[in-house]
Amino acid sequence: MKIMKFGGTSVGKPERMHQVKDLITRDNERKIIVLSALSGTTNALVGIGEALAEGKKDLAKERIDTLHAHYQEFYKALLESEAGRKKAEKIIKEHFEFLNIILKISFNEAINRDILAQGELLSTKLFYTLLQEKDIPAIFLPALEYMSIDENSEPEVAKISDRLKAILKNYDKDALFITQGYICKNHRNEVDNLKRGGSDYTASLIGAAIKASVVEIWTDIDGMHNNDPRVVDKTRPIAQLSFDEAAELAYFGAKILHPASIWPAQTYNIPVKLLNTMQPEAPGTTITAEETGKGVKAIAAKDGIIAVKIKSSRMLLAYGFLRKVFEIFEKYKTPIDMITTSEVAVSVTIDDDTHLKEIIMELEKFGNTEIDYKQTIVCVAGNMIAENTGMIKEVVVALQDFPVRMVSYGGSRNNVSILVDTKYKNEALQRLNDELFQW
Ligand code: ADP
Ligand code: ASP
Ligand code: MG
Repeated sequence: MKIMKFGGTSVGKPERMHQVKDLITRDNERKIIVLSALSGTTNALVGIGEALAEGKKDLAKERIDTLHAHYQEFYKALLESEAGRKKAEKIIKEHFEFLNIILKISFNEAINRDILAQGELLSTKLFYTLLQEKDIPAIFLPALEYMSIDENSEPEVAKISDRLKAILKNYDKDALFITQGYICKNHRNEVDNLKRGGSDYTASLIGAAIKASVVEIWTDIDGMHNNDPRVVDKTRPIAQLSFDEAAELAYFGAKILHPASIWPAQTYNIPVKLLNTMQPEAPGTTITAEETGKGVKAIAAKDGIIAVKIKSSRMLLAYGFLRKVFEIFEKYKTPIDMITTSEVAVSVTIDDDTHLKEIIMELEKFGNTEIDYKQTIVCVAGNMIAENTGMIKEVVVALQDFPVRMVSYGGSRNNVSILVDTKYKNEALQRLNDELFQW
């Protein structure tokens, strides 16, 4: 059984949804289809939640109405039969009635997550209606019945697997299953989600849960490129990546994949393919356990990074000092991305500033702290790049005109990370591209 996940742009226009229908019916292999919300919808839902959080009900209403109008247009172009259009009208009415009711009650975080879930519920129901209109047999698989996270927001892999297998057992003759990406239930049994871009994670978790033959991530580009195509000229798709390389790139900002979406597939050695809905014959990127080709394969960048320096001539040489520093971050559940040390200071980076104030207060017990906001981690990833001494020279040459705040090299054979002020990001990515990929 295989998993095919289609992102927001792949379902964002009626003609694209038709294309998805054709892609999933090209062969008879059993498959689970994971859909994102139509492109723009989750952003719009975030906007509705923000307006409500600020008490701006009129603005929220305006945003609901704009989104509603979009769906009114969408379904008319998607469906042609009277019966199909009636069904779609009912679906849209139901979900927008829900949003309008929320305007009347007091807002909280749980309600916000309910709002965010509407996008994937709408896209899957409309797509399912399209399949019905075309007499394509399929089973609707509500994600809220099997996808769950625990109190630390971690997916409950064993439970997800048990529930999913139990459901699928009832449909052993059926070939097509349609489900929502992104949404899940939390430990309080409330509607929750796997964070922005989380549909990739859903696909990989389902793949792991049922030991799928492959997880296909269908999007609007022909695979993982060697650099961010939104920022850099002359990028190219990479044919093959190892799980470790792909995970590193996803974690360090390659938007094409949700940062956590590789580990479930990697755990069960399930290949992941990145494919282009608009260009289905393009080879895309295949991600497997195999390590191929030496050298730099790609560059990614992660914004919104905060660097924290703790200076303490007295403490740093003492054993146990780093443990004490790390324990403070652990206490506030704040992961550290990069770390560099000197005799008198240690610098770490974080991307979650929820508890920054408390963390700094506690760190001040050990020494002086300095904080740099608006930093970007640039990650150069590849296979065995630590063995290639010339590569470091090329990185240094490429970045010679910018102040580099931190460098992390040697932590793994697969990457070099560089921290720069975000204002230098675009130029740094382009210069690295020109220096490291000569084509
Ligand atoms: P989807 O809606 O299908 O999940 P996303 O927008 O989340 O699609 O991801 C695809 C986008 O990721 C591409 O359109 C591209 O602009 C962006 N992107 C950023 N870095 C890379 C990269 N290294 N390779 C490919 N795409 C990338
Ligand atoms: N719709 C969600 C988002 O926009 C999930 C996804 O597209 O993967 O973040
Ligand atoms: Mg995405």
